[in-house]
Amino acid sequence: MSVSLMSACEAQSAAARVMARCDALAAISESTDGLTRVYLSPEQLRANARVAEWMQAAGMTTWQDAVGNICGRYESAAPGAAALLLGSHLDTVRNAGRYDGMLGVLSAIETVQWLHDRQMRLPLAIEIVGFGDEEGTRFGITLLGSRGLTGSWPQSWVTHPDGNGITVAEAMQDVGLDAAQIAQAARAVEDIAAYLELHIEQGPCLEQADLALGVVTAINGARRLNCCFTGEAGHAGTVPMTHRKDALTAAAEWMLFVEQTTREHDPQLVATVGTLSCLPGAVNVIPGEVQLSLDVRGPQDEALERLLSALLTQAEAIALRRGLRFSAHEYYRIAATTCDIRLQQALSHAVETVQGRSISLPSGAGHDAIAMAERWPVGMLFVRNHRGISHHPAESVQAADVALGVRAWLQAICALAQG
Ligand SMILES: [Zn+2]
Repeated sequence: MSVSLMSACEAQSAAARVMARCDALAAISESTDGLTRVYLSPEQLRANARVAEWMQAAGMTTWQDAVGNICGRYESAAPGAAALLLGSHLDTVRNAGRYDGMLGVLSAIETVQWLHDRQMRLPLAIEIVGFGDEEGTRFGITLLGSRGLTGSWPQSWVTHPDGNGITVAEAMQDVGLDAAQIAQAARAVEDIAAYLELHIEQGPCLEQADLALGVVTAINGARRLNCCFTGEAGHAGTVPMTHRKDALTAAAEWMLFVEQTTREHDPQLVATVGTLSCLPGAVNVIPGEVQLSLDVRGPQDEALERLLSALLTQAEAIALRRGLRFSAHEYYRIAATTCDIRLQQALSHAVETVQGRSISLPSGAGHDAIAMAERWPVGMLFVRNHRGISHHPAESVQAADVALGVRAWLQAICALAQG
């Protein structure tokens, strides 16, 4: 087992600084009660400015790119080398917690600070990015920051309006950016060796395992469908039980099957019926039609497809047996993102060094790494957060866990930056 580069004492002060900076950024909000910081807002610019100061204090050169991401570079031993890019996002949902996103950016700065304090340069440069938009809070489209770096902004995004009818292009102009320059945010593939992201878990697995840190294997893929059982509405008093085509009882039978089968299929798969509406919806009428949604997620696309296919086949069978019709329309799909094996190994080794053992887990939530994986190998480290609560002011992490996280982060980065 290797020796930790950062001492426990150094990690403690680094973590204290990270926690204080999370608090400082939490105060940069569009509302006085609670934290809301959205893309292309004055608050985003203020947060970028603070983060840039902290990057500069850690010996980095900084710039804001053409889509509003705040970026910094800590030069390599041989200037101009490719960079390990560390990042996460600085935007939030409405009434957010203070660690989702920010923790990754601020922990990354601590690893560079440690190198800078020792005047250490690595064969690879270290770059840090604080993405301007991951959550999609303002425009309802997500990953605008990371897709700036990958150069995969669809043309349609610039005319996309926010809730007040302000388009992305207009909002960019309001903060001094120019939609005509978006392509300049794209990075050449050879400039970046890999993308690494530290993030709160947003789930209960690490807490259940009694561990501060875990290595992400994949970011779950997802499918979303609108489904419908069509039967026959009828008089609740006169149609005998044997003659009914009740769409709601069919849906109920299927929903229990969805729960049971998903549980039995694979512990990493999840399926949810999150909405249901029943027509005509009267106390004395047999339900003639039920529309319901299905959301299925998992870390491997093939397993996801197999489950989905089993669920839809059973829906057809239930409908057939009951004399109903079933239809399903998939309206959203995102492929699973696999984390790079070499990066997973380096992260696991680093986690073992500081924590004694490592654990691997998939991510149920989406992250900037989804977009970055289109161009570069990606790796992610999760930090335990209390009860898995996120997107909520009660989101919390412990300083001791952050200290372990920063130690593991530095360990992995130094190993990977050897080239
Ligand atoms: Zn996040």
